[in-house]
Amino acid sequence: MRLILLGPPGAGKGTQAQRLVEKYGIVQLSTGDMLRAAVAAGTPVGLKAKDIMAAGGLVPDEVVVDIIADRIEQADAANGFILDGFPRTVPQAAALDDLLKRKKMKLDAVIELKVNEGALLQRVENRAAETRARGEEVRADDTPEVLAKRLASYRAQTEPLIDYYSERRSLLTVDGMMSIDGVTEEIGRVLSAIGAGTSAPAKAAPRQASKRSSKGASKAAKASRKPARAAGKPARKAKAVKKAKKAAKAVKKAAKGARKAAKKVARKPARKPAKKAAKAKGARKAAKATKKVTKKRAKR
Ligand code: AMP
Repeated sequence: MRLILLGPPGAGKGTQAQRLVEKYGIVQLSTGDMLRAAVAAGTPVGLKAKDIMAAGGLVPDEVVVDIIADRIEQADAANGFILDGFPRTVPQAAALDDLLKRKKMKLDAVIELKVNEGALLQRVENRAAETRARGEEVRADDTPEVLAKRLASYRAQTEPLIDYYSERRSLLTVDGMMSIDGVTEEIGRVLSAIGAGTSAPAKAAPRQASKRSSKGASKAAKASRKPARAAGKPARKAKAVKKAKKAAKAVKKAAKGARKAAKKVARKPARKPAKKAAKAKGARKAAKATKKVTKKRAKR
């Protein structure tokens, strides 16, 4: 199974990714973790990324695309993976599409964790406190000031991906404001609704059952994709306008046809009396002839 987890910083992507790893036996590929490791190791990529990350900006697309291209080829990713924090821009998503196509890999779903921005600061503060309590080092970018910048880059550069993936019908939206367990349960539900998540070696459902449920599953999947589509985003609006124009044209055509038919009907009754008149004329002629004959006979 191959998944993308989409959501702003503090949405719970990392926590949910870990649970998916356990449940489905796939690997979590977090570009944030990989970049932090590169920074800690002082690699050329780390040196490039360090200041950008500390300021809450985005590392250049080509850097993260290269990292992911290498990583998804490794043996531990053969059973599937969850991309956490990647893609973060439309060019990254397009590069990932190309990459997967070249490697003949299919993406099962993109899960969007929808959260209230207001709750994020509290979540990030909690995360920092928990990290401190464990005696670990707190992330340099888990501060209110940097969070504001990370949220700004999420809104400007990552949020367009919601449209990108909903247009490709692979987006599943989950309410990320529920409890951690609630979110996990909902993710499991939407994944089984699309027939994904049956490939985990230990948890695989019996073949027959998964086959039987596939019809209902695709219906349910469509329903779970609905909230994202209902948001009325520009590209979809354009499609809707096109559709409406087409429908209006069809209505116009139908109306024209109806008018033509009405004219035809209107003409018909006019022809009928004419026929009747002709018949009546014939009858009168016949009556006259009969009269003439009767008169002649009377004379005789
Ligand atoms: P994260 O742990 O996912 O919150 O990422 C931490 C930081 O790493 C981000 O604020 C970015 O500076 C950088 N980063 C992680 N993933 C990406 C990505 N896909 N594109 C660009 N920058 C990234």
